[in-house]
Amino acid sequence: MTTTHTAPQVLIVGGGIGGIGAALMLGRRGIRVHLLEREPAFAEGGFGLQLGPNITRMLRDEGVLEDIAPNAVFPRRLVFRNAVSGEELNHLDCEDMERRYGSRYLVMHRGDLLEGLVRAALATGNVTLENDRKVVRVEDRADGVAAITEDGSRYEAQIVLGADGMHSRMRRLFVDDALQPTGFVAYRGTIPIDAVDPDLDLESVTVWMGPGLHLVQYPLRDAKEFNQVAVFESPAHARGELDWGKPEELLERFSSETGLHPSVVRAPRELGMARGWPMVDRDPLDTYVQGRVALLGDAAHATLQYLAQGAGQSLLDGASLAAHLAPLADSETWTPAQVQAALGAYDEERVAAASRVQTASRAWGEMWHVRSAGAVMVRDHAWRSHDRFDYDIVDWLYGPVRTEGIVAAADGSATSPGSAAAPSAEATPVVRPRDLHPTPVTTRK
Ligand SMILES: Cc1cc2nc3c(=O)[nH]c(=O)nc-3n(C[C@H](O)[C@H](O)[C@H](O)COP(=O)(O)OP(=O)(O)OC[C@H]3O[C@@H](n4cnc5c(N)ncnc54)[C@H](O)[C@@H]3O)c2cc1C
Repeated sequence: MTTTHTAPQVLIVGGGIGGIGAALMLGRRGIRVHLLEREPAFAEGGFGLQLGPNITRMLRDEGVLEDIAPNAVFPRRLVFRNAVSGEELNHLDCEDMERRYGSRYLVMHRGDLLEGLVRAALATGNVTLENDRKVVRVEDRADGVAAITEDGSRYEAQIVLGADGMHSRMRRLFVDDALQPTGFVAYRGTIPIDAVDPDLDLESVTVWMGPGLHLVQYPLRDAKEFNQVAVFESPAHARGELDWGKPEELLERFSSETGLHPSVVRAPRELGMARGWPMVDRDPLDTYVQGRVALLGDAAHATLQYLAQGAGQSLLDGASLAAHLAPLADSETWTPAQVQAALGAYDEERVAAASRVQTASRAWGEMWHVRSAGAVMVRDHAWRSHDRFDYDIVDWLYGPVRTEGIVAAADGSATSPGSAAAPSAEATPVVRPRDLHPTPVTTRK
């Protein structure tokens, strides 16, 4: 049976962090949104997520940070260690970063974030959410657009946003590309903080970098839980086997025979083994917009997790869309020219930025995972000798940089005096960061 539903202004396909985040941002601007999610409930995996200052600044400026991140943890440092020797190679001080970028680095539970986003989206009064609705087709016309679900229901709107994730069906309207496999797989899980290896830093995000593997650890939920992610390159994948990245490989790659530091050997044994996540991404697109359809989140720019930015970038997509569509909130019908102007501005703002995160994430993974003794020596030397208050390597990502209140200390030991209480970035001037990262590669359409 075909049912035609009353038209919202914006229809969103996919209720992950990206889709619900966009619904929230649009709803706050007075835009009527309906969201279709194929699963019977909105759910995220039971593990952690990092949000950098570029993301938390936007969430704070939107006025939603407190609502959606009630029991987030603000880590003290981002620490980088050699997974074999255990040596701390360097760290970033999160309070200093806050002064530089005007907002906090935070870590939180994915489920808590999604729940907070759903709650805040519904509270706008402009958002409706529907589960068990798998979109199979989109019809884009000059005067509107329709999404058709598996059961034949038809949903009309002024625009459709494809937030249907890494395996996006909506993306196929743009390009018929394949996921880019890396041969790496991730296992993740949380344990009660009381059960954690007593030698570990419980107040920081720690990355242990090893040959063809790494481990990330940080506290969650008011520091009552501890999140761990173990990632390794699968030997079975390298041999061309179809069944690869299994728990036996995880335990083998992180065994004491490998010479890894004891804390690195211990962690994977505390993870859930029910499933591993193959590490894949996609090549950047040169547009996220086609007619009345736009992509966002992983559907637009699936990204390896080495800069911990995928979900954050999807939230930036939502904020950008909301800002550019806000002037249309009071109109029932949006002309093709209005749609083109708003979505064109979104494209302009987001494609280059998100593509750059995609390509830079690949480079960070390569650097973490070097294997040969020479490459490890060079990497470790570079990390050790890097001035920890020199932010060139992340300014492009976490910036713009606040110039007010940033003063070089006489002994060079600190760069920014003053209180760590959330400063306002609004009225402060911006300096252009020096640019250490290559511009993104743009690939096929
Ligand atoms: C190991 C690992 C660690 C990570 N760590 C971080 C981190 O620290 N920080 C960070 O910012 N990011 C991180 N990420 C990335 C982040 O998880 C993703 O970028 C983010 O969750 C993508 O959100 P999304 O809403 O775009 O897609 P998804 O979460 O995949 O949501 C898509 C939704 O669409 C629904 N859907 C699909 N098809 C249809 C259809 N046809 N009709 C209706 N609904 C449909 C799906 O059911 C799903 O609910 C990490 C990723 C991994 C793998």
